[in-house]
Amino acid sequence: IITIDNLQKSFDGLGVLKGISFTLNEGEVLSIIGPSGSGKSTLLRCLTQLEPVNGGTINVCGQTMVSSTKEGVVSYADKQTLRSVRLNLGLVFQNFNLFPHMSVLRNITEPQMHVLKRSKQEAEKVGRELLKKMGLEEKEKAYPDQLSGGQQQRVSIARALALNPTVLCFDEPTSALDPELTGEILRVIKDLAKEKMTMIVVTHEMAFARDISDRIIFMDDGLIVEEGTPEALFGNPQNPRTQKFLNRYE
Ligand code: ATP
Ligand code: MG
Repeated sequence: IITIDNLQKSFDGLGVLKGISFTLNEGEVLSIIGPSGSGKSTLLRCLTQLEPVNGGTINVCGQTMVSSTKEGVVSYADKQTLRSVRLNLGLVFQNFNLFPHMSVLRNITEPQMHVLKRSKQEAEKVGRELLKKMGLEEKEKAYPDQLSGGQQQRVSIARALALNPTVLCFDEPTSALDPELTGEILRVIKDLAKEKMTMIVVTHEMAFARDISDRIIFMDDGLIVEEGTPEALFGNPQNPRTQKFLNRYE
């Protein structure tokens, strides 16, 4: 459903992604782990068009978003294609990024009305269904600062889901949460996995990655060092860098 080939990204001439290639299959949960600064967030930002790339190709749902020649000339698809690619990808951030001056329900309805041109009535129907699914039907009138971190993150997942993404991308969805609240987000992501939602999850939580993933990518210094099932990667890591990284978590 996503194919990335030889993706390159640099900031001020410094390589941050040095040739990343992977595929994501429909219904799959892929986690990306690796040390701080290895390029995990940059990878998600390039995929979701928050950052331009310096080379490589990205295909999403059969559409070519960006391609490059051997000589490194990068070309992006036209605006309309980029928009439809972007609509396939939902994004959930570490810090929830909710609108503080809007109620929970409005946080979920506004993007639907704005991006998908849904009527208010339709958007509220979708919003209420998703709040119910997230166990937050009582909270639709609350404001973000009246909610716990875990509840805010569930609202931001509902907001992303309301736009019907084909792939949901998470950048450290639990790292702003107290440990006792990470469980509720884990449960939500597990439920989505059961429904065969395709997901990419960047995380520092190894137990979480092990629990939810079909496949895990270990990144270090802008490269994919190792890739495998949770059992293989955690049980029998092949690369010394993977071994060293995982040892710190034991
Ligand atoms: P963490 O686990 O700490 O979130 P990460 O793997 O997500 O780390 P990135 O945020 O992708 O790492 O950063 C990779 C490298 O790119 C870092 O060296 C960072 O300083 C650099 N970088 C990221 N964004 C920018 C930017 N906008 N301008 C310049 N350098 C950047
Ligand atoms: Mg990051």
